[in-house]
Amino acid sequence: MLTNMQARDVETLVHPYTNLEAIRSTGPLILERGQGVWLHDSDGKAYLEGMAGLWCTALGYGNEELVEAASEQMRKLPFTHIFGGKSHDPAIELAEKLKEMAPVPISKVFFTCSGSEANDTQMKLVWYMNNALGRPRKKKIISRMRAYHGVTIASASLTGLAGNHNDFDLPIAGVRHTTAPHYYRLAEPGESEEDFATRLAADLEALILAEGPETVAAFIAEPVMGAGGVIVPPKTYFPKIEAVLKKYDVFFIGDEVICGFGRLGTPFGCQALDMKPNAISVAKALSSAYQPIGAVMIPEEMYQAMLEESRKLGSFGHGFTYSGHPVAAAVALKTLEIYERESIFERVRAKIPQFAARCAALEDHPLVGEARQAGLVAGIEIVADKKTRHQFDPKLGFAAKVVAFAQDEGLIVRSVFGDAVTICPPLVISPAEIDELFDRLTRALDRTLDWATREHLL
Ligand code: PMP
Repeated sequence: MLTNMQARDVETLVHPYTNLEAIRSTGPLILERGQGVWLHDSDGKAYLEGMAGLWCTALGYGNEELVEAASEQMRKLPFTHIFGGKSHDPAIELAEKLKEMAPVPISKVFFTCSGSEANDTQMKLVWYMNNALGRPRKKKIISRMRAYHGVTIASASLTGLAGNHNDFDLPIAGVRHTTAPHYYRLAEPGESEEDFATRLAADLEALILAEGPETVAAFIAEPVMGAGGVIVPPKTYFPKIEAVLKKYDVFFIGDEVICGFGRLGTPFGCQALDMKPNAISVAKALSSAYQPIGAVMIPEEMYQAMLEESRKLGSFGHGFTYSGHPVAAAVALKTLEIYERESIFERVRAKIPQFAARCAALEDHPLVGEARQAGLVAGIEIVADKKTRHQFDPKLGFAAKVVAFAQDEGLIVRSVFGDAVTICPPLVISPAEIDELFDRLTRALDRTLDWATREHLL
C-alpha cells in the first residue's frame, strides 16, 4: 500500500534509471534529511549512505560551511552568466584553483552543470580543435565497452552500456568502443595482468588502424570504471594505451567525474593509476554534490586551437546558461578549500587498508565472485558458481536483491550492469562506519543466499 506521498510521486514523476512499471506498485523510498554519512527517510528510519548518493556526496550531509557558502553567494549575487565578456569572482577563483590542482598541464577551465555536459563539451572541443588544425576528417572518438560517460546524446554514445543505447538510436556515428579492461571477465586463463594490458593496447591499435588513424581524434576513459561495475584496470594498462594514442596522435580525455577529488586517495584518479590524459572532465565531488557543477580542464594546445578557430568564426559558440553559476562555483570553491584544510585525501588514504580488507573478505561469501576495490570504491560481482564464474540469469536480478535486503538493513548501495553491487561511501566515513557498512552488506548477502536457497535458485 503506497503512502500518500508515494502515490503522488508515481502519479507525477518519471524517475531516472528506474523500472517504470515496478515503481508504480512499490513506490519510491522518500528521503528527508541527512547528517554525516546517514540519511533518514520520511518514517525516520536511518540508512548508512554507502554510495555517496551517486558517487558524489564526498563530504557527507549537513555540512554547514557549504550551506553558508551557498547562502552568502545567493544573497550577494545569485546569478550572472559569463557569456560575452562578463565574469564573477567565484568562477575566476574556482578556475584558478582547478588549474593549480590539475595533475597534468592545464591551461583553461570551461564550466558545465554536470558530468554529461562536460563529456559532451569534450567531444565538441575535440572536433572544434581538429577543424582549427586543418584536419576535418580526424573526428572519431574511441571509448570502451562498459564505460559510463553520461546520458546526453554525445556522452550516452560514449557510454559503453547497451541499456543506454537500446531504443535511443545510439550511439551516434563516429563513436567506437574498444575492449573493457575487465581482468576477471576477459583475461584468458593464465594470462597475467600485464599480458592482458598488452592485449588491450593491441586491440586499441587494431581498431585505430581499421578505422584509419587519420579519422580517429580522441580516446576517453575513466581511471576506474564506475557504473560499468567498478572495473579497476590491470597493471601497466594506461602507459600501454597511451603509447598507442601517442603513436597515432590521438587526444586523451580523462573522465574524472567519479575518481576526481580523493576517491582513490589522490586528488585525481589518474595520479593513482599512472594515467596522463590531455584533458579532464570533473563534476560530482567538485561540489560534494551540494550544487550541480562540472568542468572541462583544457590543455594549452587545445586552447590555442580554440582561440584560432574562434578568431575565424568571430566567437566561441558553446556555453550553458549556468556555465560557472556563481552559487555552484562558490560552493565548489568551499568544497576544495575543505578538502585541503581538513586533509581529506590523506585521510582517505589512511582508511583504504581497512576498506580494502573488509572488501576482500567478501570474496569468502558463496555469492561473491570478485570484490573489486580501488581507494574507497568497490564493486561486488555476484556469481552463481565461483569456480566457473558463471552468472545467474540477469532476469533474477541478484544484485538488485542484495541492494533491497541492504536497504532493509539500513544501508544504501547500488546494483549496476553485470550483476554487481557497488559501494562508494562519502570520503568522510569513519572507520567504525566502514565496519558498519560491511556488516550490513554481509547480512544482506546472507539474506540473499537464504532467499535463493528457499527459491531453489542455487
Ligand atoms: N562520467 C562518469 C564517470 C560518471 O560516473 C557519470 C555519472 N555517474 C557521468 C560522467 C555523468 O555525469 P552526470 O550524471 O552528472 O551527467
